[in-house]
Amino acid sequence: MVSAVGDIETAAGVLLAGGLVAFPTETVYGLGANAEDLAAVARIYQAKGRPPTHPLIVHLAGAEFLDGWVAHVPEPARLLADRFWPGPLTLVLRRGPRVSLAATGGLETVAVRVPDHAVALALLSAFGGGAAAPSANRFGSVSPTTADHVRAELGDAVDVVLDGGSCAVGVESTIVDATGDTPSILRPGGMTREDLEAALAQPLAVPSTSTIRVPGTHPSHYAPRAQVVLVEPEQVAAEAERTQEQGYRVGALLPASSGTGANVHAVVAVPDSTTDYARGLYAFLRELDQRGCDLIVASLPAAEGLGLAIGNRLRRAAGPRTSDRPVTMRR
Ligand code: AMP
Ligand code: MG
Repeated sequence: MVSAVGDIETAAGVLLAGGLVAFPTETVYGLGANAEDLAAVARIYQAKGRPPTHPLIVHLAGAEFLDGWVAHVPEPARLLADRFWPGPLTLVLRRGPRVSLAATGGLETVAVRVPDHAVALALLSAFGGGAAAPSANRFGSVSPTTADHVRAELGDAVDVVLDGGSCAVGVESTIVDATGDTPSILRPGGMTREDLEAALAQPLAVPSTSTIRVPGTHPSHYAPRAQVVLVEPEQVAAEAERTQEQGYRVGALLPASSGTGANVHAVVAVPDSTTDYARGLYAFLRELDQRGCDLIVASLPAAEGLGLAIGNRLRRAAGPRTSDRPVTMRR
C-alpha cells in the first residue's frame, strides 16, 4: 500500500505540531520529527530508546534547502550533492543556525540527506522544514524496511506511519564526512564507494570496522536477537550443522551459489546479487529471529559495491553484546 495525498498532508501537519511520523525512504524507514522542535526531537530519542549523544540525520526535500542547516558547503560536498541527491548519501557538514545541538548529539557538525523516495519527498515538501530522522526501530536492533516492521517495533510511540512498501535499497545511507576538502566515508551504505570515488576522481578512506568510534556505530548496532557467527562462504552449511548439533537452534544465511542447503532449523538462500542481498538483509535477519533461531551463521560478501555495507552490518550484528551503552566520540 502506498500512501495517498491526504495521508501526506496529515503527516506533514503532525510534524508541524511536534509529532512523530515514520516514513519510507529508499534505504530504510525513518522516524521523523521537526528538526527545529526540541521537544519533538527528544521524543525520537525516547521512542527509540536511543542515547541522546547519538546524532540524527536531517532530511531535506532538496539541496536547494541547505541554507540555514549547514554553515558551509565545501566544493567536494557540492559536487556529491549535485551528483547523488536525491539518493542514499548522507553528508556531514558544519552545522548551520537552524540545527539545534539536541539533534546533533552536541556536535558542531550536522548530517544531511535528500532521500530518493516519492513519499519521503512529498512529505518533506508539504512539511517545508527539515525532518530529523534516524531509522524507525528501537535502539540497537535491525532497521525496518517495511511499514509492518515499524508498527511491530514502535507501536503507539509513533503518531503516523506512512506506508511506501518495501525499501528498494534496504541498508542505511553511506555517510561521508564532507566538512573539508578531503571527504572520507564514516559509514558504508547504499551509495557505493566506487561511485563516490568515480565522481570525486579520488580515493576515499573507509574506516576499519573494528576500530570505529563514530557516534552511533557501536559494534552491536543493527543486531537481530539471535547471536550472529561469521565464517567463510563455503563453510556456512557445515558450521550451521555443527552448531545445531551442539544444541543451538540455528538459522543459516546460505550464499545461493555455495551449495544446496543445510540440515538446520531455518535456511535463507542469500541472493548472489549484492543489490538483492542488501534489499533483503534486514528482512532475512528478522525472519530468522521470528522463526526462533538463537544462532545465525552467515558469511561476508566481497567488500566491493554494496558488499561493503552488507559486510559492515553483518560484522556489527556479530559484534560483542554488552549491557553497556555505546561509548561515543565527540569531534
Ligand atoms: P541512523 O539514522 O539510525 O542510521 O543513524 C544516523 C547516524 O548518522 C548516526 O548514528 C551517526 O553514525 C551518523 N551521524 C549523524 N550525524 C553525524 C555527525 N554530525 N557526525 C558524524 N556522524 C553522524
Ligand atoms: Mg539506526
